[in-house]
Amino acid sequence: MARLAQTHGLTDVQQEILATVRDFVDKEIIPVATELEHRDEYPQRIVDGLKELGVFGLMIPEEYGGLGESLLTYALCVEEIARGWMSVSGIINTHFIVAYMLKQHGTREQKEYFLPRMAAGETRGAFSMSEPGLGSDVSAITSKAVKDGDAYVLNGQKMWLTNGGTSTLVAVLVRSDEGHPEGTAPHKSMTTFLVEKEAGFGEVRPGLTIPGKIDKMGYKGVDTTELIMDGLRIPADRVLGGVTGRGFYQMMDGVEVGRVNVAARGCGVAQRAFELGVQYAQQRHTFGKPIAQHQAIQFKLAEMATKVEAAHAMMVNAARKKDSGERNDLEAGMAKYLASEYCKEVVEDAFRIHGGYGFSKEYEIERLYREAPMLLIGEGTAEIQKMIIGRRLLEEYRFQG
Ligand SMILES: Cc1cc2nc3c(=O)[nH]c(=O)nc-3n(C[C@H](O)[C@H](O)[C@H](O)COP(=O)(O)OP(=O)(O)OC[C@H]3O[C@@H](n4cnc5c(N)ncnc54)[C@H](O)[C@@H]3O)c2cc1C
Repeated sequence: MARLAQTHGLTDVQQEILATVRDFVDKEIIPVATELEHRDEYPQRIVDGLKELGVFGLMIPEEYGGLGESLLTYALCVEEIARGWMSVSGIINTHFIVAYMLKQHGTREQKEYFLPRMAAGETRGAFSMSEPGLGSDVSAITSKAVKDGDAYVLNGQKMWLTNGGTSTLVAVLVRSDEGHPEGTAPHKSMTTFLVEKEAGFGEVRPGLTIPGKIDKMGYKGVDTTELIMDGLRIPADRVLGGVTGRGFYQMMDGVEVGRVNVAARGCGVAQRAFELGVQYAQQRHTFGKPIAQHQAIQFKLAEMATKVEAAHAMMVNAARKKDSGERNDLEAGMAKYLASEYCKEVVEDAFRIHGGYGFSKEYEIERLYREAPMLLIGEGTAEIQKMIIGRRLLEEYRFQG
């Protein structure tokens, strides 16, 4: 039988990694995900298992103790994990973005210090751009760093940190005017600081408070928090890359690979919704036959499967483009936009196929229905993706008349 979301041209190593992760998802994640989600419980056993599999170091170079795998391998693993439970892919995602930013932009000392710990999953990453007053408009950041001797003093409030409580390293983007004259464009006066802290809530380092978990409609289990900096002192050698004023570009680079990752999550959740819908449609009978035998339901299944295939193909394309060393902002933007919209639609169709039972917490689709909307927002909303896509199209198709 032709299964959905197959990827051609994978190496033996890639196939082996994927098979291992798929097996872990089927045995260790799917059976417990809904129960843990309803209790909003952090999936510690699952995280420990993924640590053992080396998933936290998938893309970290081998010289730093990781597996040195490609973005494609990583994205395909994320797709599998999200098929099991989207929150688990969220636990890995911010870690992956911070490791990627360190690999691309860190000083040698920063890489040597952080990457081996991150590959082992001992140091766990979160990243922080958003503030209470802004998300899409990163250039409006108000949190600030001021130079004081051989350190910087950070003040301000951050919002929506995925893994804010459980992480021990946060890449924080703030404004830093030092060395940048008045009137410098906002994106040229921002700096990423590598902030180490204790895991947990409350004052996790002098001058740094993580107030507690934000109560969310879905995406439970993984902690999402605020972060308050009040005279937080960070040594100058914890400026990412050692030079101020580059933070905006570093973060955008991280978010770009993050977008492929969110697309992969959309693919995984949509696949699971399709699996649930196609199973239920063959079990539930109305008017003397399984509902799968009604053409209206078959059409729904056909539309859902087509969307799963299309999103997977675009996500794979975006990952391969990045792996080839080329710019992939257009492909990543398109993949993220399409996969998250299709995910929402496929989940809704699977929900409808379940009839009234889809509304019951006993059925997995109820959880997916609350999880899918997060993908429309995280790593840039649909409108922001369309702005990126539109701008790039006008570059590529510049009118020559
Ligand atoms: C569960 C969760 C986890 C998150 N994790 C993180 C994290 O780990 N780190 C982090 O830094 N952030 C995180 N975020 C924040 C997330 O990135 C932002 O919520 C997102 O970028 C949108 O920003 P906003 O919420 O401020 O919406 P706004 O920017 O206020 O946008 C509101 C609406 O206006 C639209 N809009 C905005 N500008 C334009 C425009 N120019 N043209 C047309 N439409 C526009 C948007 O598309 C949206 O529909 C998380 C958010 C959530 C919900």
